[in-house]
Amino acid sequence: MKLTYQSLIPINDKTIDDKLSDDKLSDVKLSDDKLSDDKLSDDKLSDDKLSDDKLSDDKLSKAKDIIRSLKNPSNEADSFKNFIALYECFTPSEWLNPDILFEISNYIARTRSELVDLGTRLNVQVNLYLRTIANYHSDPDKILGLDYSNNIGCFALTESDAGVLSGLIVDVKFEETKDKYILNSNQVCKKWISQGMLASKGLVIASNISNHRDCRIFIIDFSSDSIKQSNESIKQSNESIKQSNESIKQSNESIKQSNESIIRTQMRDIPVSKYLDLAEIRFDDLVLSKSQVLDKTIPLSRKEILTGIFYGRLCLAEVVMNSISEFVNMVYNKIKDIEKFKKIGHYDYIHKLNNNLIDYCLNMKKNRQTLLTNGDVMRINCYKIYCVETAIYIYNKIHIMFGTHAFGFGLDYQTLILNKIAEGDTSVLKLACIKEYLNKYGIIRGINYRHWYKISTNPIKYVMDNKDIIFDEIVGSQIDIITSIYL
Ligand SMILES: Cc1cc2nc3c(=O)[nH]c(=O)nc-3n(C[C@H](O)[C@H](O)[C@H](O)COP(=O)(O)OP(=O)(O)OC[C@H]3O[C@@H](n4cnc5c(N)ncnc54)[C@H](O)[C@@H]3O)c2cc1C
Repeated sequence: MKLTYQSLIPINDKTIDDKLSDDKLSDVKLSDDKLSDDKLSDDKLSDDKLSDDKLSDDKLSKAKDIIRSLKNPSNEADSFKNFIALYECFTPSEWLNPDILFEISNYIARTRSELVDLGTRLNVQVNLYLRTIANYHSDPDKILGLDYSNNIGCFALTESDAGVLSGLIVDVKFEETKDKYILNSNQVCKKWISQGMLASKGLVIASNISNHRDCRIFIIDFSSDSIKQSNESIKQSNESIKQSNESIKQSNESIKQSNESIIRTQMRDIPVSKYLDLAEIRFDDLVLSKSQVLDKTIPLSRKEILTGIFYGRLCLAEVVMNSISEFVNMVYNKIKDIEKFKKIGHYDYIHKLNNNLIDYCLNMKKNRQTLLTNGDVMRINCYKIYCVETAIYIYNKIHIMFGTHAFGFGLDYQTLILNKIAEGDTSVLKLACIKEYLNKYGIIRGINYRHWYKISTNPIKYVMDNKDIIFDEIVGSQIDIITSIYL
């Protein structure tokens, strides 16, 4: 396994290019017979050939078989087992190929949208854990080791007082001495950390005690001997896949890793994603060797580090669009033969919307490689904001238009809200986008002099009050939008 920068670049695959050429895309103006479930998910979106390599195709089919056959979890251990069953279908290098990861993530969104825990674990493991190491360490293999099955990670950025602003405020501190680092969380903790209890390793973002702008990413080995752990049950949890559900449950109950240097606490009683193990993590004089820093983060500013972590955001945008597209397709198929919906015009609306969403998902797939290889963060942020907020809009509108006919799809409202928060809350991203756009272009089309006057007298209030209108101006100039949904 060699995690080189090359492995971050989507595979150069003529078949994909062919499939997604403009001609092919325009073919996707759907006739009714193209709208059957099978055609939609298999022919068009999911089974586009990812590689000439037969092996890769076989692995993809196997992974899809596994996804279809997974039982709904009844606890975190089940959820973790499901994840491992899927994760073992590919090597880490293969997972780092965005065409494989996005394909599988979109497949989960379309066929098993209720498995939000599975999608989240995959995103955390690949886009946040593996990819950050591959991106920010000069020798990723050394850090990851060859035993990749035992390399399940978490990503600890968010803090107790920081919320969605965690990217801006990092209060977990590191102190650098000649031969080591010492990590302290003081009064705060890392919070909402997905896979935080069951992961064997974790990436932790901390800032320098003597310069808060100097942020670095550290890798923590939760089961390492160097980190003395007197609580054996946590160590067991790292081998959880081999354990019975009962013992994993016990390890999750073990609230503290009582070596006093790392304290992992299971977040309980949270109303979303109850099959995710979400942790709070504290550090008390945790001693790390110099090799535990991701070395490429040392010269980078906090902003540079965080803007370099964008794959998960685009992945999430595609996932949300694919799940809402499948939801609309399901409702369309249910109502298409009901006469009354033709009479009241709802049929025309959903028919058009369904076509638009399918086109939109294909276009996203087509644009993916360019966006990622160019690191086009502004556009990626626009996709994240636009896709999540549009999905919420459509979800509500379809339920209002079709009532009970819209029931029965695995996607629920809270999952959509979770997608709004995860990988950067869309409200906060909007502000960042507006700021960046103004810095780059100096003006936003549609904002007149009166508005500019208000901006200059009280810019923060003005932008907060008008961020949706202003963003609408920006988004249309950056990415494709679906116009018909506003008809
Ligand atoms: C299931 C789940 C898994 C997660 N996994 C991880 C993980 O693995 N690693 C990790 O580091 N983090 C993780 N997070 C944290 C997540 O990314 C958010 O940072 C965190 O949930 C804070 O969100 P909040 O709604 O509590 O933020 P709050 O700051 O309380 O914000 C609440 C709302 O206020 C508004 N708001 C707040 N600040 C602003 C602003 N500046 N401008 C405009 N509007 C604003 C927004 O609408 C926002 O939704 C996870 C969260 C969840 C729910």
